[in-house]
Amino acid sequence: MSGKEIEISEVGPRDGLQSIDAIMATADKKRWIAALAHAGLREIEVGSFVPAKVLPQLADTAEIVRYARALPGLTVAVLVPNLRGAQDAVAAGAHKLTIPLSVSETHSLKNLRRTHQQVLAEVREIRALLDQLPKDQRPSLEGSLSTCFGCTLEGPVAEDAVLRLGEGLLEAGCDEIGLSDTTGYGNPVQVRRLIHRVWSHLGRESLHGIHLHNTRGQGLANVLAAVEAGITTVDASMGGLGGCPFAPGASGNIVTEDLVFLLEAMGYSTGIDMERLMLAREVLAASLPDEPLFGFLPDAGLPKGFQYAERESLVVA
Ligand code: ZN
Repeated sequence: MSGKEIEISEVGPRDGLQSIDAIMATADKKRWIAALAHAGLREIEVGSFVPAKVLPQLADTAEIVRYARALPGLTVAVLVPNLRGAQDAVAAGAHKLTIPLSVSETHSLKNLRRTHQQVLAEVREIRALLDQLPKDQRPSLEGSLSTCFGCTLEGPVAEDAVLRLGEGLLEAGCDEIGLSDTTGYGNPVQVRRLIHRVWSHLGRESLHGIHLHNTRGQGLANVLAAVEAGITTVDASMGGLGGCPFAPGASGNIVTEDLVFLLEAMGYSTGIDMERLMLAREVLAASLPDEPLFGFLPDAGLPKGFQYAERESLVVA
């Protein structure tokens, strides 16, 4: 990926759908994911391998993975909380597995019901599972450091703890780590500083992606800090699906539509076509008619005479 290309990883089918009460029909999910891929999204987190009784919204993840695998050029990503989830993800054929490790141990115990050491032990077992697979069928494994900019339970989170746990994830067998502002506490200065500290401590190849929430309206400002620092993959959710339970009117994840505009207008190529992205939004809106969708760009439209950033090839699926 050249310096001017940014990959947007669409997490709406996972992070968005898990945050709402409505359960999107499997056929609608397939239509939505296909429309997202058609708009140029090259990586989509399509679900999570957690027990259906915990997240009934994502109970069809295996079927969705098998469907999404057939979409050309798409990296099919999933969240896995443990070895059991990783086994299911491998069986379904996911290309990328992300296991969350909450830097706040209080949050980790509440969210995954595991201590840091227990999560790291799980990562080692997942690594062993993946290493048994032929190389060309082996999914990549990312360790996502959640609550790394602060925690609703513990408050401030020490950057040294982020570095230590990031090192732990890499030693346990993750291919790379990601930074996740689960709580929307981060600010641009903090984002820039933590990225540089991770790179100087763990090497540039250890970290390429960031997952930001817009809970306090800082999402796009934080994206700007991250991409100017050199981050090349940014998570976002169509329509900011899921919203924020603590801030009515605020989106949950960064809104994909607004993010595409921000990046393209600044000269970063995303490979995403806005008209097609709006078609995907229509599929989403029709599938979840009672769910509020966020974003400014969808209402305001692209500026007159808008030009996309230079791109080597517009991917047409
Ligand atoms: Zn999230």
